[in-house]
Amino acid sequence: MPFTSLGLAPELLQAVAEEGYEQPTPIQQEAIPLALAGRDLIGSAQTGTGKTAAFMLPILQRLSRNGTKHVLRALVLVPTRELAEQVLQSARAYGRHLEVSAAAVYGGVGMEPQTRALKHGVDIVVATPGRLLDHMERGHVDFSRLEVLVLDEADRMLDMGFAPDVRRILRALPDKRQTMLFSATISLEVDALARSALDGHASVEIGRRAKPAEGIEHVVVAVDKLQKRGVLARILQAKPAGQTLVFTRTKYGADKLVTFLRREGIQAHAIHGDKAQSHRTRTLDAFRSGEADVLVATDIAARGIDVDGIRMVVNFDVPHDAEIYVHRVGRTARAGARGLALTLLSPDEWLLMGDIEKLVGQIFPREVIPGFEPSVAPLQPKPLQVEQPKPGRSVRARSGGRRRR
Ligand code: AMP
Repeated sequence: MPFTSLGLAPELLQAVAEEGYEQPTPIQQEAIPLALAGRDLIGSAQTGTGKTAAFMLPILQRLSRNGTKHVLRALVLVPTRELAEQVLQSARAYGRHLEVSAAAVYGGVGMEPQTRALKHGVDIVVATPGRLLDHMERGHVDFSRLEVLVLDEADRMLDMGFAPDVRRILRALPDKRQTMLFSATISLEVDALARSALDGHASVEIGRRAKPAEGIEHVVVAVDKLQKRGVLARILQAKPAGQTLVFTRTKYGADKLVTFLRREGIQAHAIHGDKAQSHRTRTLDAFRSGEADVLVATDIAARGIDVDGIRMVVNFDVPHDAEIYVHRVGRTARAGARGLALTLLSPDEWLLMGDIEKLVGQIFPREVIPGFEPSVAPLQPKPLQVEQPKPGRSVRARSGGRRRR
């Protein structure tokens, strides 16, 4: 299906072509016609699926059709500063042939330029909830003309504790509006939020359960916990082509790993919530430009990081939630490219890996690196058809593991 069949204005089609997009992604094919028709949407979509364009192109079209008035007419709520910047850049890129203005509002930077933008009047505001509330309390925001609300990465906003803030913002918005909610997973909490934010009768659910892209090769290396960093250094010293994004569970773990890798001669950089905004921006820019090729991140910091050309994603720690695995590895193999997802698996993480394999619907053989053999030999997972393994047996770890949250 070509972009031209979605009902988009020529200015948007031109911008999309200039971005080099040849075909709409599945979520764009589903969402764009519905969003253009003004429907409320719940989109089950992770980053890397093209969801930003799926909501932004219809917003731009709507705003440009009704004549730009430089009053706030579309609000996109996002969980992190990085995502706010990215969504803003997308709005600018897709809207470059239209006279629609956009601004981002997030914490960690001065209020003043944001206040000026809000008071001067912008058509689209992309905001994190906390900072937006600050501006609302100071009377900087006028929602009376708001037409569209997007809740982007709703699951992550809830995970980060933004539920009360989001609800307060919702109460300040006009009831008559179009609302689109995007979330990688539609948990009960997300569903409850959707019910309070969307028009239940007119809403359409689109997108499917998170599955990793086809182009990703998954490699699981069995190794003892204390040997993980040595294995990673060995792999990175071999200078893999392209950029590597490494995930750790904690900020402390990210910093410790970076210190170790640097001692081994690998120029790694950490990005997480304890770093100053200016530092995070600089690090991301260096990674984006290819100047830095190893980035160590926590899940929250990496949320939505949109860098093309990430060749390898490393799960230094196996995530506690199987769906996070899908998000993490979704950073590689973007838009049809090939990528590698490397998981360093220590014996205490076998159960978690079993959950992931169940969700993904594939089992990954356990590899061992000579010189770094784990003290407990890894069990090769059984095929997934084993639905009801006997409790207490180690095979549970592979195929029937209880979901742990
Ligand atoms: P998102 O899921 O919105 O974070 O987008 C992921 C990446 O896909 C971004 O780098 C977009 O520029 C890119 N992208 C979005 N739509 C398309 C498309 N139709 N064709 C190719 N790339 C796309």
